[in-house]
Amino acid sequence: MIYDIAIIGAGPGGYVAAIRAAQLGAKVVLVERDNLGGTCLNWGCIPSKAVLTCADKYNSAKKFSKFGIDIEGLSFDYKKVSERKWLVVEKLRKSLTQVIKANKIDVIYGEASIETANKLKVACSCHSEVLTHVVQYLPDESGTYQEAKASEESVEFKNLIIATGSRPVSLPGLQIDHEFILDTNDIIQLEKVPESVLVVGTGPSGIEWTRIFEIFGSKVTLVELAPNLVPICDKSISERLERIFKIKKIQCHTGTKIKEISGKKVLLENGQEIEPEIVFVAAGRFPNTEIKGIESLNLAKNGRYLKVDNNLKTSADNIYAIGDVTGLVPLAHTASHQGMTAVENILLNKQGNINYEAIPHIVYGNPELCAVGLREEDLIRKKIDYKSSNFPVGATSKFFIEDELEGFVKVLSSPDGNKILGVHIVADHGSDLIQQAAIAINNNLTVKQLQETIFAHPTYSEALYEAFLGLDNMSLHVMPK
Ligand SMILES: Cc1cc2nc3c(=O)[nH]c(=O)nc-3n(C[C@H](O)[C@H](O)[C@H](O)COP(=O)(O)OP(=O)(O)OC[C@H]3O[C@@H](n4cnc5c(N)ncnc54)[C@H](O)[C@@H]3O)c2cc1C
Repeated sequence: MIYDIAIIGAGPGGYVAAIRAAQLGAKVVLVERDNLGGTCLNWGCIPSKAVLTCADKYNSAKKFSKFGIDIEGLSFDYKKVSERKWLVVEKLRKSLTQVIKANKIDVIYGEASIETANKLKVACSCHSEVLTHVVQYLPDESGTYQEAKASEESVEFKNLIIATGSRPVSLPGLQIDHEFILDTNDIIQLEKVPESVLVVGTGPSGIEWTRIFEIFGSKVTLVELAPNLVPICDKSISERLERIFKIKKIQCHTGTKIKEISGKKVLLENGQEIEPEIVFVAAGRFPNTEIKGIESLNLAKNGRYLKVDNNLKTSADNIYAIGDVTGLVPLAHTASHQGMTAVENILLNKQGNINYEAIPHIVYGNPELCAVGLREEDLIRKKIDYKSSNFPVGATSKFFIEDELEGFVKVLSSPDGNKILGVHIVADHGSDLIQQAAIAINNNLTVKQLQETIFAHPTYSEALYEAFLGLDNMSLHVMPK
């Protein structure tokens, strides 16, 4: 059989592409060397948020007396938190397996290598359909899986989608040893809460584990090479976070890095010495481009990543790449959307592309840091005129009722209000609000249209509404300027 589309990698890019292809009536095969769901479901988004949810529930419970509810003897058992996390992953993976099956998608478990531009070889790894979480299937640092078994299958295809994702790697001079110096795959497997952690890097993983460790009582210290915390965020967000961390007594060392580690003593370039129980390296991922035989395709690269055009096509005509392996906004929802777009471009002969500026970003800090569109510093650098509005979430009744007063919603628009340029939120539930801003930006809604939209009361969304009103000095629940 010759497949219409073969896909290497069943992460949120690859499996979504496979489902969309099946919906369009294509004959599709998905090749995966580990578990369905990729990094996102097995090691990333899902297990980390499952732990985060437990931490948040514990944190909320600590504040129950404020709401007239008394709890005695509140405590947590991190072993159970950890077990629940794998249960969530397994249940979701089981559902995904059923969806893949129901869509009549062929799945081959094994390491794919490229024979020609129309043929793959798969070294089958004798996977059962739904595995329990087996650590020995993790790749080593070169990206090689040791578990692949002897049998081989050939797969012929008209089109190929490479969705092989990325993996954690050691930073220069900071070798992951999986005992004292841990990466994201190690941290998710911890069975106990460390007394103290040095978190290296304040990207999404660094910040979300800071939230988890801080709630469960670890002493957390952060080190960030950039001058601001969370350098991907608007500067106003980084500055607010710095203030919040100060209150929580989380030590932040920005504009510096680790100089030397001897035993358990860590010396920073700024002269500070720290002796944490573990070092969590929350930065540094490499794309999985080392697919055996790929060099025969002579695909153009963008640094370490596979280069794609606006339609997600690589430099070879029938080969597409999606997700982390492209290095374009490495998030699960980017990978999935790229997957759907690539498939529609192949099967429907479309020229669909991605509006990267309308992709929402969420950093699951406490509170959440969320963004879509341009940052204020980008507008200044690009000399784009703008107006801005900043609304404190604590001034809306819903945030007040919930006692979640910290944070603000900042909106940047063109001076005439015809275009929303960026929305930046630091607040609990920001992850729900930012999606509304993404809809506004993706659909070119004007400030007036948003101001004329009726927002339900009392809701968190009213903070966004107030910020939209604020662009014309019309915010209601703040003192007049
Ligand atoms: C700790 C952590 C937390 C995260 N949290 C979030 C979050 O909250 N929200 C969010 O949007 N993103 C999050 N991400 C990022 C997200 O997980 C990735 O952007 C997403 O998984 C990328 O999807 P993908 O399909 O490109 O690749 P992956 O999910 O990495 O999947 C690639 C798959 O390809 C397989 N593969 C590779 N090479 C071969 C081969 N030769 N043969 C066969 N199979 C192969 C791999 O086994 C893997 O299963 C997180 C990441 C981490 C590490």
